[in-house]
Order: sequence, then structure tokens, then C-alpha cells
Amino acid sequence: MKNFPTLSEKNQSNLIHELTQYSLANGLIIYPPDFKEYQPNLAPVTLFPTPYPSKEFEKSILIATQFNSLYGSIVSEKKWLMEIIKDLSVFDSDFTGKLYSTHLEAEKQGIPQPVSLGLFRSDYMLDNISNEIKQVEFNTVSVSFGGLSTKVGQLHSFLNNYGLYTSSGAPYYKSDDLPVSDSANGLADGLHQAVTYYESKHTDAKTIVLFVIQPNERNAFDQRAVEYSLYQRYGIPSKRVTLPEATSKVKVDPTTKKLYFDGSEVSVVYYRSAYGPQEYDCQEAWDCRLVLETTLAIKCPSLVVQLSGAKKIQQLLTDSATVSRFSPDAANEDLLSTFVKIYPLDDSESGAYAKKLAFEQPHLFVLKPQREGGGNNVYKEDIPSFLKSIPEAEWAGFILMELINPSINKNLILRNGEIIDEGVISELGVFGTLLFNEETGEVLHNAAAGHLLRSKTASSNEGGVAAGFGCVDSLYIH
Ligand code: ADP
Ligand code: MG
Repeated sequence: MKNFPTLSEKNQSNLIHELTQYSLANGLIIYPPDFKEYQPNLAPVTLFPTPYPSKEFEKSILIATQFNSLYGSIVSEKKWLMEIIKDLSVFDSDFTGKLYSTHLEAEKQGIPQPVSLGLFRSDYMLDNISNEIKQVEFNTVSVSFGGLSTKVGQLHSFLNNYGLYTSSGAPYYKSDDLPVSDSANGLADGLHQAVTYYESKHTDAKTIVLFVIQPNERNAFDQRAVEYSLYQRYGIPSKRVTLPEATSKVKVDPTTKKLYFDGSEVSVVYYRSAYGPQEYDCQEAWDCRLVLETTLAIKCPSLVVQLSGAKKIQQLLTDSATVSRFSPDAANEDLLSTFVKIYPLDDSESGAYAKKLAFEQPHLFVLKPQREGGGNNVYKEDIPSFLKSIPEAEWAGFILMELINPSINKNLILRNGEIIDEGVISELGVFGTLLFNEETGEVLHNAAAGHLLRSKTASSNEGGVAAGFGCVDSLYIH
């Protein structure tokens, strides 16, 4: 395995100059806070790819379709899932509870489209003792960075091939060792499958994909990469609308339940939003989710698919018997070996044990509520005082997860023109796409869809790229 390149000060400044202009020219960009539409920034990136063991990378790709099947099966066995979600709703009535009651209302009104699209991402860290990938979480809604991941891989390959990683001008890495993620295309392929299915079943019209986005989206170019891939490769256009806006802008045919936007029939509603309670700050937003859920359009994700990504479900799946029950194929050594211990904090025997651990050995754990999108977890020594600050009856809404200890790499982060040299720890994400029938469990399409490496300074607990803790990175496979 090669160490990171070492460059003279002059060569490093030149590298930064070339990196910056290549990235701006090719759309490796993100809006800063309080942006003007014409003023994006270079996305935070590492200067170099980060080393990753090929065996673990290959494993992560291999198990992607098995994770897809597993979550597809859970959704298709709605009864089991809904019992758990119902219990969780009590602890998180503002969000999980609202998603659940909105789903119940949708069922009551009728959900005319049983076919559902999942664009998933399974996130891993490399444990520094076993040197094996361990799952951080499985995301079922609004997974991001599929677009920018392709671009950062292309950037690092370009810098390498252009000789900017050496003083001699020769490539530093073998190009085969720098895999470029095909995730921008992979996610677009998933959407294409859903559009094609819808058009074959329901219409002669040319349909569109409706991206439901957050207001003032800073990560718009990541989304655009998927949108443009879908258009350029398949001729499928997309339109963008925010969640509260959508209600007034869409039309639903009361008989066919077909969804229209700007006069075009919508085959797929693709949420790049709608995963956090702050997004539903008005009743219109919940109403809108309900309206969209009860149309004929294929949802990515449906409320049930979104709910299957609850951290509680991840905790229950660390029991191999539960995995076997839903998907015997998934219950294999490779997939199961990615699980660390996750405990409930409820009245069960395991819950009682976990409560003891939380107070006696908090430095080994992270406490997670049923939330997505970063900034919600409680780490290590903060756990006991946090738990004491809320009634014990509410603890069951959280899971207690063993901390994964990844190695620190000496990569450099470039953010807002500044180099951060504190060492990085990295999180691998593997995308997967699944088109399936929620009622019958029939799988119409199941594929791995590229990867993502995000890195963050070793000192920060969380790694949000947009939040300013992390950056996009790529892999040097060894
Ligand atoms: P969210 O749904 O908010 O993204 P995550 O479960 O992904 O929540 O946690 C956020 C971040 O916290 C992760 O990206 C990772 O950096 C860190 N983290 C979460 N779980 C663990 C863990 N078990 N060990 C080490 N770090 C973790
Ligand atoms: Mg996460």
C-alpha cells in the first residue's frame, strides 16, 4: 500500500489551484449558507484519495443487493414493521408518529400504486481492529452525494493522471486503483426503471420525475447530476418543487389518481427532502405528503419504505434470526459481519443490560433517536446526563449502539480555500436501487448503484458535509 503523496509547498499550491478550477469547471460544487443562486462554492474535498482495503470494498458492493432485498422484504411484511413503528410512535409522536398516522390515513383513503422505488445507501466505517466494514446505518430516504461522489472520483483520477500528485509529473497511483463511483448514473438508472415500469402499465404519455426538494437547497448540484444523467441518457425530464409548495402546484385526477405537474404526468415522486420534522413545520407539508402518497405515481420512497429505515429496525436486524426470517439470502456471513451490537433501551432483558452499559461504559457507545440527517445523536460521556434529563419511559425511543473505531488517515481537507491537516476518518456509503411491489414482495429491479466516501476531521463526532464537518473523498483501493 502506498502512503499519501508528499509534495513540496509549491507543488501543493499548484495542486490546490488545479483542483479548484477543475472542480468548479466540472460541477463539484455546493452552495454556501445564505447563498445567491449564481454563487456556489467548491464542495469541501480531500486533496488525495483515501486508502481502502479492496476486500472490504468488494464485500460492501456484493452485499448491496442483499440489503436491498432485506429491506424490500421487511416492507412487504408490513404487519411486523407497522407493529414496531406503532410502538415507536408513542415515543416520537412529532415525527415517526406523524409519518405513521399519515401512512394510516393514506391506507384508509387508498394507495393505488403498490410498486415502490427505493434509492438506498448503506453506510460503513472500517473498524481498526478487525479491519472489517461495520454498518453505521441504512438510509431509505433522500440519500445524498451520489452525484458529487462521481465527480470527486473523476477529480482525483484527473489529478493523478495529470501528474499533479508527483514532482516528476508521472501518475502516483495506478488508475485501476482509483475506482470512480458510478452513483450519479446508478441512481438515475433506478429512477429510469421506475419511469419505464409506470409508463408500460399506466400511460402512453411521456412522463416526468418530480423531485420534491427542500427550500434553499444547498446541495442542489449533487441532485442535478442525477437529474441530468436521467435526461441525457434516457431523455426523461425532471421538475423540482418544495414540499409545502407542491400541494398548490400539483393536480390529481380524482378518478385515475394520476398526478400532474405543470401539465405533465408524473411517474415518480422522488423525495430529496421530507426526512426531518423541521420540514413539516406547517400542516400543508403533511397534507402534501398525504396527497402525493395516495396518487398513482411511484413514490421514492413511500412512507412505509421511509419508516423501514428507522434506527429501531436496524437494531432489531442485528439479530440474525430476524434477518433470516425476512431474507434467507441476506443472512450470510458477509452481511451479518457488518453489524456491531445495538441495544434497545426498553423494558426487555437486553434493554435492562443496555441501561447499565449506558451509565457504566458510556465511552463505548452512541445513543441515537429515530431521526435522520445528522446532529441528533448523543455521544459517549454525554449519554448518562442526557438520559437523566428525560423521563425513563422515553428511553425506549432510542437505541444504544457500539461505537465503531476507524483508523485515522493523514489526508488533507480543502474547505473554503483552507487546508485542514488534522487527520481524517472516513465513512463508505454504498448505494442500491430497488423497484418492488410492496404488496406481493415481487422484485422488479435490484442493483448496486455506486459508492461514496465521506471523510471528516478525526476530532468531530459527526460528518455532515453541508453542516461543515465533513467532505467528499474517493477511494484508493489496495
Ligand atoms: P443520521 O441519520 O443523523 O445521519 P447516523 O447514524 O448516520 O445518523 O450518525 C451520524 C454520524 O455519526 C455518522 O455519519 C458517523 O460519523 C457517526 N456515527 C454514528 N454511529 C456511529 C458508530 N456506531 N460509531 C462511530 N460513529 C458513528
Ligand atoms: Mg447518516
